[in-house]
Amino acid sequence: MNLAPTDPQAYLPEAESLLERLFPICRSITGDGVRATLSILQAGIAMQVEEVPSGTQCFDWEVPEEWNVQDAYVADSLGKRIIDFRANNLHLVSYSIPVEASMSFAELRPHLHTLPDLPDAIPYRTSYYNRDWGFCLTQKQFDSLDPDETYRVVVDTKLAPGHLTYAERTLPGTSGQEYLISTYLCHPSLGNDNLSGVVLWALLLRELSRQSLLHTYRFVIVPETIGSIVYLSQHEDQVRNLVGGFIPSTVAGPGKFGYKQSFLGDHLIDRVVRATFRELDLDYNPYPFDVNGSDERQYSSPAFRIPMGTICKDKYYEYTYYHTSLDNLDFISAEALVQTLNLYLLAIEKLEQNKTYRSLMPYGEPMLGKRGLYPKIGGSIKQKAANMSTDHGDRQYQVSTDRILYGNELDALRWVLFYSDGQTSLLEIAEKTGLPMRQLFDVAERLVQNQLLEIVEKEIP
Ligand code: ZN
Repeated sequence: MNLAPTDPQAYLPEAESLLERLFPICRSITGDGVRATLSILQAGIAMQVEEVPSGTQCFDWEVPEEWNVQDAYVADSLGKRIIDFRANNLHLVSYSIPVEASMSFAELRPHLHTLPDLPDAIPYRTSYYNRDWGFCLTQKQFDSLDPDETYRVVVDTKLAPGHLTYAERTLPGTSGQEYLISTYLCHPSLGNDNLSGVVLWALLLRELSRQSLLHTYRFVIVPETIGSIVYLSQHEDQVRNLVGGFIPSTVAGPGKFGYKQSFLGDHLIDRVVRATFRELDLDYNPYPFDVNGSDERQYSSPAFRIPMGTICKDKYYEYTYYHTSLDNLDFISAEALVQTLNLYLLAIEKLEQNKTYRSLMPYGEPMLGKRGLYPKIGGSIKQKAANMSTDHGDRQYQVSTDRILYGNELDALRWVLFYSDGQTSLLEIAEKTGLPMRQLFDVAERLVQNQLLEIVEKEIP
């Protein structure tokens, strides 16, 4: 099994095109923006779209009314639009109730949101469960408002019984082990958080859908919080046995890679990610589990306890432009997105390759030479990773699978034979030896073909 693409560049054009087409759409936790987004994704990859009616009870929550926007603006007395939803959908507080009124600056003022420390940025604000309305604008725009003006406020929104929309697709495997890959799609025109996660999720689904898989992968795309709670409430029995999973989010920024670990910290999910960073010799920021974050708080809640990890590139909360109009298509890049996609593929490849073997020739070391397994070129024994790249200056920006640092072939053979006691998994061997998983897997499979090893059926972790 070799999941990762040899040329991650192949995903670039599609990543770019999806980012550009999806960015302008006004999304929220419900509404036509979510449907439009899913229908664009569906054109490239099959998935099942579900509509859950407003008022549906899901654990302690209820599916809210559906929200859609026609138009929204603040105009001056001459009718000139000063704050205009059509110019940028972040100008309107998400879930604003309908308004049509003239008012003084003093009346308007409490409904305006700015970021004084980032005077060129429009903040992103929501009011999902508190019926209110508001506008977001740059501090510069705000400073230019005339306090003596009478303003015309129009919020042409519809808040009415409708549906919450989400999508899912399960890719079946044969092992009986199932993993969850979930992301959220409720943010309007914001790049890293969260459009990048949406696009990565879709490309990951497409790539895995083309593979023959050992494990089952359940892909879910929902509005954050309410969506994952709805999903859990409607799939309570199916999700209980999930081994673990990933929440791709904030994956395409210009900065450093990061990993937010699962609530367990040393679960299989965490270990395959760490092994991935190690074999690429890639520097990253480790983040401990935190209940603040995304839907891991729901999936890992006491009734479910599914360990969820997030590989990111410029993690949410950590970058200056987070939840502002400056988190746009200039901030993120398809190149960065594809690099992070590659990390997810390498981590999942490790889940697929994490088998346990038992030696069929455990009495001393089997004679490799007579089976043609001994490396033909002598003298390289104990030489340090001969193909280790010396060019590390730009490694953060050149993540590809051919930069996995393979170790000495004879070392790999000997370690796999040494640890093949029927107890030690390939991932453990990778952790103990520092050798890359793919190399160990190739070696182990070759040893199976030569009747030196057999695969041990292990219990589901
Ligand atoms: Zn967010």
